Amino acid sequence: MAGLIIHKPKTKEIHLFMPQKSFIVHGHFYQPPRVDPRTGEIPQEAGAQPYTNWTERIYHECYLPNAEKENFKRISFNFGPTLTAWLETNHPETLAEIIHQENAVFLEHGISNAMAQPYFHAIMPLIPRREKETLVHWGIEEYISRFGHPPLGMWLPETAVDLETLEVLSENNIQFTILAPWQAKDPSLDITQPYRVLLPNNKEIIVFFYNSFLSSEISFNTSSTMEADKFVSDWLIPEYKAMNRDQDQLLLAASDGELYGHHMAERDEFLEYLMDKALEDVDFNSTFPALWIKTHPNIEQAEINENTSWSCHHGIERWLDVCGDAPNATWKAPLRKFLDQLAESLDEKYFQYTQEYIMDPWKLRDAFIDALLGKVSVGKLIQRFSSKQMEEDVLENIKMMLDAQFERLRMHSSDAWFFFDFDSIEPLNGLKYAVHAVWLVRSVTGEDISIPLLNELAKASSNETGLNGDAVFRRTLAVYG
Ligand SMILES: [Zn+2]
Repeated sequence: MAGLIIHKPKTKEIHLFMPQKSFIVHGHFYQPPRVDPRTGEIPQEAGAQPYTNWTERIYHECYLPNAEKENFKRISFNFGPTLTAWLETNHPETLAEIIHQENAVFLEHGISNAMAQPYFHAIMPLIPRREKETLVHWGIEEYISRFGHPPLGMWLPETAVDLETLEVLSENNIQFTILAPWQAKDPSLDITQPYRVLLPNNKEIIVFFYNSFLSSEISFNTSSTMEADKFVSDWLIPEYKAMNRDQDQLLLAASDGELYGHHMAERDEFLEYLMDKALEDVDFNSTFPALWIKTHPNIEQAEINENTSWSCHHGIERWLDVCGDAPNATWKAPLRKFLDQLAESLDEKYFQYTQEYIMDPWKLRDAFIDALLGKVSVGKLIQRFSSKQMEEDVLENIKMMLDAQFERLRMHSSDAWFFFDFDSIEPLNGLKYAVHAVWLVRSVTGEDISIPLLNELAKASSNETGLNGDAVFRRTLAVYG
């Protein structure tokens, strides 16, 4: 009898020390800003039938079914704050359900499976540090207001990265992010483990590099995700065998969240079955980045390639100029230059006007998220940053200057540069936000700051329709009267 008692735990012990195979699916859920800044509503969009706009259509094909199947407790995910804001207005019960699923994970494991995201989807290496700081702070505050606790991870738009961005993340207590494997400096790095990246500010951040093969098969090869069991046997297991290491191994597949049900029908069901049943059948462990860090505290060091991303194979050129992904998009460079110069000019006007009343205008901009989230009225917030009692008209003007900053941050959303032709919804929306900011500043100061910059914008035009940036800008501004 004694022998038997000794034997039983031994078998178990051996099992415990078997290297564990873990798998993470990360879904990046995001929609470009589609709201018309004048009305606060999304205009009717072509192609979205039977729904009036794309976000609504994607909601029915993806966000809702994934929430109904409780997939937000199975995968690692992030929701762009502009998308959660839309959900809150249009489908609050579904947003509550998504949060409820994350909260269940948090309760069970003491970590979250949801990552934060900078508030607007800007290419972080292309914006100045102060702008990075505001977007990261806003993203974190938005996350806390939704989930009820601070985030440990932050997803970077297009996974575009430089060390300054990682510094800002680390200074905001973000512990990890996810990057593409080619963003690691060493191309032969074993990416079945995350790595610590040391930063110039003497802090560090943990980076998970996703598995490129699995991520692109899931994203682009429809046949790989027809059946979850087959995905495990034909795609996942061979990837593990190829690694073949005598330690716990992690494979992470990262993709756009809209893939599951919108880009590919019924992949919400695939996800449900994969993460629950198919992985379990072959003794695979489904986990989350924060949970992996918690259970595997010894993390080695690695370095990253700056100014790289997951969706441009030329670094971050896609959002700057022509590159192999959009070789005829000569409109991108002048649009970028125009919006960057306009951003500088808007910042100057904001600082000049507010500094007389506000102790630190940039701290006020950071704190503006509290008003956007409805935690405080804009008026009270402004008073909090001032030692002076302000007249009503001054208060109104500062509010307008803050609204102009909101549009100025929103106009840098990366979507404007992602596609091929200038005459598309996204670049034109970018210009709408720019026009709105210019109009707000004009209402306060009487000055149209776009005039000296429009020559640059005139260089941006559509190869397909001839539509010109300068003309669109003037026409849109004229509507304001
Ligand atoms: Zn490219």
